[in-house]
Amino acid sequence: MSKYLLFRGECETCGFKTEMLSNRNDDVTRLLLSERTFKPALFYYDEDPMYDEVSALVKKIVVGLELDEMQKVDIFFEIFGSLCDLAPDGSEYRISEIFRCPKCESCDFGCDPTEPPKYAEAEPPKVKHEYWDSLSNDERRMLVVNRIQDRLPNLENYRGTTIPILPKWYHPNEIK
Ligand SMILES: [Zn+2]
Repeated sequence: MSKYLLFRGECETCGFKTEMLSNRNDDVTRLLLSERTFKPALFYYDEDPMYDEVSALVKKIVVGLELDEMQKVDIFFEIFGSLCDLAPDGSEYRISEIFRCPKCESCDFGCDPTEPPKYAEAEPPKVKHEYWDSLSNDERRMLVVNRIQDRLPNLENYRGTTIPILPKWYHPNEIK
């Protein structure tokens, strides 16, 4: 069991409130939470190459776009959880602390540390990615390209910044 600081999530659109575990920022694991009910799962950096693999693919895919490092990180965070298998509640995992409201899907959903700080003991399961594992390298690259194209509009909603959409002619086979 590990001790986690709790974050408080609140939707400014519908008023929905919840609490969720926050990432502990250690070097060994990364916490993911499911989009629907904030169920936690852990990714283990040291024993699982997927993180580095996806990160490298994102960097290659966005190489022609004028993005700063933070935007590249945003894109990576936005798609990584969606490449893992679904959470037990049937929703996708998310890696970052930027969520949509699970009730009304509004992006005006703030996540902040509980004040005064509250903590919870938890033992999140290991995140699975059996689907990813079943794909060839070409299929993985294509999946990442498609995810980036699908999710770029979300990033604009969250950050209020404009990130260029991949050009229409952009085809996964061109990325080697
Ligand atoms: Zn809401």
